[in-house]
Amino acid sequence: MLIPSLQFAARTLATADKRHLAKFMWNFGFKGVRSVQLFKKRIKKGEYFPPFLYLSILNSCNLRCQGCWVDVDKPQVKIDFDRLNQVVNDAREHGNSFFGILGGEPFMHTELLDFLAQHPDCFFQVFTNGQLITDKVAKRLRQIGNATPLVSIEGNEVVSNERRGGKDVYKRTLRGLDNCLNHGLLTGVATSLCQTNIDELLTEDWLRSLAKRGVHYAWYHTYRPVGPQIHEELALTPEQARRVRQFVVDMRVKVPIAIIDAYYDGQGKALCPMATGISHHIGPSGSIEPCPIIQFAAENIHDSDSIYEQMTKSEFLRDFRQVAAQHTRGCVVLERPDLVQQIAKKHGAKDSTIRQTAMAELESMTPRGSQFLPTGEEIPEKHPAYWLAKKILFNDFGVYKNLDKGK
Ligand code: SF4
Repeated sequence: MLIPSLQFAARTLATADKRHLAKFMWNFGFKGVRSVQLFKKRIKKGEYFPPFLYLSILNSCNLRCQGCWVDVDKPQVKIDFDRLNQVVNDAREHGNSFFGILGGEPFMHTELLDFLAQHPDCFFQVFTNGQLITDKVAKRLRQIGNATPLVSIEGNEVVSNERRGGKDVYKRTLRGLDNCLNHGLLTGVATSLCQTNIDELLTEDWLRSLAKRGVHYAWYHTYRPVGPQIHEELALTPEQARRVRQFVVDMRVKVPIAIIDAYYDGQGKALCPMATGISHHIGPSGSIEPCPIIQFAAENIHDSDSIYEQMTKSEFLRDFRQVAAQHTRGCVVLERPDLVQQIAKKHGAKDSTIRQTAMAELESMTPRGSQFLPTGEEIPEKHPAYWLAKKILFNDFGVYKNLDKGK
């Protein structure tokens, strides 16, 4: 365990741009921990403001992935430069320093780089297909220094083209990935594990090939059969979901690469980041949503100058967190789409999609398993660093007390 961890640390120190690494350590590391401590203090008073805000800054994308819930084929809707800055400034004034930037494809937003440059004291994780990250864009990202690209790879050449509805998808994504690595950016690779890529990408060989290429971290999401074309056939079985958890825990002590997950605490108990309140989402239209795949909102950032006020006062978000935490440690969307409908209707929440079919999509869903592993089958962390980090920074913060007691 020690050797791979030391190899990873040495490799990162040797390859990452120094100023960029310092910003990561301070803005994400030190200030990130502080924002979670502040979150923990606030929730004791029943006040929820997520330290990890995710912003989908536009809907447009150059690819057409199976199972994508974003309106990528519709006319462009985006959060403009001034509003983006206003949201980040308000969140920062309330202690936040880390933000997730999603789309569509964020690098299609013409003001993305200028927006990042406005916030040198924050850190951003940009979820991207990497295809628009040219050498010039990567160089600018290094100069700005406060963003880590998380590049999604969904399979080899054949599977990538099929999964993402494009040509040369794999090659073009790898080109963008290499541009990031060549400029010393802390860079991750994300995969949405499904039936067509699990056997190839959930392997030690794949992780070692990423580490050899210079990639710093990996993130395995599990395919969510939601959106206008759900491709249910791609979804993982409960046994495969369990296999993913076991693999991640095993590889963390074996391969010199960091592996993120957002669905388990240090003891291996499942959780939902939305239900715990640690993260919520803002859609391309400014809609304030419980999470990216719950496309309903009762509030919109364009109606107020304080995201903090809107989120801490939102009865809609509060109800969603509480109802989800009362019913499952897993994904309420996959396991109980009926509950999602009920809460949205109860609050008269707006369908935040351009296609206006979010409710019908929920109605057509078949309830299924998610990341929740039955009690007694939890898979705890083996690596002490992950165990400790989750104990302090990423757990259920007590929201499942009643559920665990069977109440
Ligand atoms: S509701 Fe599901 S998709 Fe949303 S944050 Fe929770 S587990 Fe993830």
